[in-house]
Amino acid sequence: MELTVIGHWGAYPEKNEATSGYLIEHQGRKILLDCGSGVLSGLQNYVMLEDLDAVFITHLHADHIADMYSLEFATLILMQIGKRALPLDIYVYCQDLTKLDFCYPEYVNVHPIDLQRTVAIGELTITFAENVHDVPSCAVKVNSEDGKCLVYSGDTGYCQSIVEFSRGSDVLVLESSFYNIQKGLNNGHLTAGEAGEIAAIAQTGQLILTHLPHYGDHNQLVVEASSHYDRQIQLAYCGMKLTI
Ligand SMILES: [Zn+2]
Ligand SMILES: [Zn+2]
Repeated sequence: MELTVIGHWGAYPEKNEATSGYLIEHQGRKILLDCGSGVLSGLQNYVMLEDLDAVFITHLHADHIADMYSLEFATLILMQIGKRALPLDIYVYCQDLTKLDFCYPEYVNVHPIDLQRTVAIGELTITFAENVHDVPSCAVKVNSEDGKCLVYSGDTGYCQSIVEFSRGSDVLVLESSFYNIQKGLNNGHLTAGEAGEIAAIAQTGQLILTHLPHYGDHNQLVVEASSHYDRQIQLAYCGMKLTI
């Protein structure tokens, strides 16, 4: 399984970069986890849009869904000119799918994410768990048939659910929105120290810190996470690639 980080910023993208977007490729299948602002442009460095199999949206904050509506238009055009045969499957975690702004059901199949159900895309199996955030929000787990496991947190505060859900994963892509000194500022996001704690308790194989803040020295996030977790820690960056 191949991971490409399309965007790693929290809240808004820095110049020429993107907020949350993670491309997973395996055995010819291509899925995208979140599609925040800037993702649609960056994504095209790595994949033809007509080859995308499915998109999973963890929650409705703009830094996770904003470019999904442009991707709907891209899909419309690609189908109309015959480059894409089938509608794009979009899985969204939210309370009410009818409140979303998709306009063309003939080009996108929008499905609710059901925490009790598994989605299969080729040889990939995708499951979900509820997070703590200020809107309904889920984490995503991608398992491949060759026994590899990636967990992507989406946005979450510290909770037992993300610890249990991440347990034994090979790679944990975990939000780290805050520095330790900001602990308690917003219980819907993690500090780097909390991210390290979760990775340590879950015994994940390696930790990637993402959804990064627009201030401070990101190396400090690694220092803070590493006071709890002693395996490999990396900072996500746009264009980062990892084979799992
Ligand atoms: Zn976010
Ligand atoms: Zn959010």
